[in-house]
Amino acid sequence: QYKKVLEENRKLYNQVQDLKGNIRVYCRVRPFLPGQENRFTTVEHVEDRTITISTPSKHSKEGKKSFSFNKVFGPSATQAEVFADMQPLVRSVLDGYNVCIFAYGQTGAGKTFTMSGPNNPTEETYGVNYRALNDLFYLSEERKATISYEVSVQMMEIYNEQVRDLLATDDIRNSSQNGINVPDANRLPVTTTADVIHLMNLGFKNRAVCSTAMNDRSSRSHSCMTVHVQGKDLTSGATLRGCMHLVDLAGSERVDKSEVTGDRLKEAVHINKSLSALGDVIASLATKNTHVPYRNSKLTQLLQDSLGGQAKTLMFVHISPEADAVGETISTLKFAERVASVELGAARANKDSSDVKELKDQISSLKAALTKKD
Ligand code: ADP
Ligand code: MG
Repeated sequence: QYKKVLEENRKLYNQVQDLKGNIRVYCRVRPFLPGQENRFTTVEHVEDRTITISTPSKHSKEGKKSFSFNKVFGPSATQAEVFADMQPLVRSVLDGYNVCIFAYGQTGAGKTFTMSGPNNPTEETYGVNYRALNDLFYLSEERKATISYEVSVQMMEIYNEQVRDLLATDDIRNSSQNGINVPDANRLPVTTTADVIHLMNLGFKNRAVCSTAMNDRSSRSHSCMTVHVQGKDLTSGATLRGCMHLVDLAGSERVDKSEVTGDRLKEAVHINKSLSALGDVIASLATKNTHVPYRNSKLTQLLQDSLGGQAKTLMFVHISPEADAVGETISTLKFAERVASVELGAARANKDSSDVKELKDQISSLKAALTKKD
């Protein structure tokens, strides 16, 4: 009886997730950094799905502007709370789905914090990468009587439209053998969280080698951790494959092209091009366009097989709270809104929200039934 309720609960939960569609947009506001707590903030109000920004008059007459997303996390949200919301998405990899999670936003807005955590993270402050793998290990252990899973990881960096393997010493070529556009980057098996931490450190070290020569290059490149999962059903022998890309994008801040030259200008052009290519791809997937412009950047080419179709995408936008960042904050939120617009469009949202509400009500009554059992 207990098991049946749990199973039913899981099924309904998946249905709620499916109704939400394959493209989701979340927003997270970074807290003020220590010592800056008393500065003016541009964030007026945060609700579950809406964020209101106070704006200088040139952006709106009312002096404020609201944006809606699938989920908004305020400055006090913890890493665990953020992950809890993404957990079903992450878990779907073990059911054979492809998943892409992007951290988007201006430099300093908290992208790396969300994906990896701060420098020297603790159990509490670990980011999505670590939590996701940890959770996959946990779930595959739970299922081991019926399915045997193998998990492996790649780490790559895209800088100026060049892909580099962060788990190897040599530069790698881009190839599309085996149908997946992931280059032949080293793919290392992982079975424990200790393995994951080891690989993450290796990746960071390799990344750092390049950035010392060039001040903070990491914010001007995209980094991607790809998790491959292969599952074998122990009774039928059938196999399934899923993969998940966890992408920490280059800073989205607009660079004043009249003021930069040489390397900086080249970087700015590449970043701008790849971020708008990503926005175009996601927007065209959301509108169900038949032509999806994957070929406009290395980033979208690399992730092509995990963007669109049955794949699930989460664009996680980050904003800084400081009033002097308001220009970038508004352009970040507008980018995100463009990506989200169709999925959250009035017609669909109305239909979805009543269905979702109904399913949510069923879940609450099932939960109530469960607690009574205890
Ligand atoms: P980005 O990767 O977008 O450039 P970072 O993740 O490096 O930004 O964040 C900038 C600084 O703010 C770092 O010192 C980081 O540890 C801190 N920070 C970011 N988000 C949070 C958060 N949610 N809670 C606490 N500190 C944060
Ligand atoms: Mg960063």
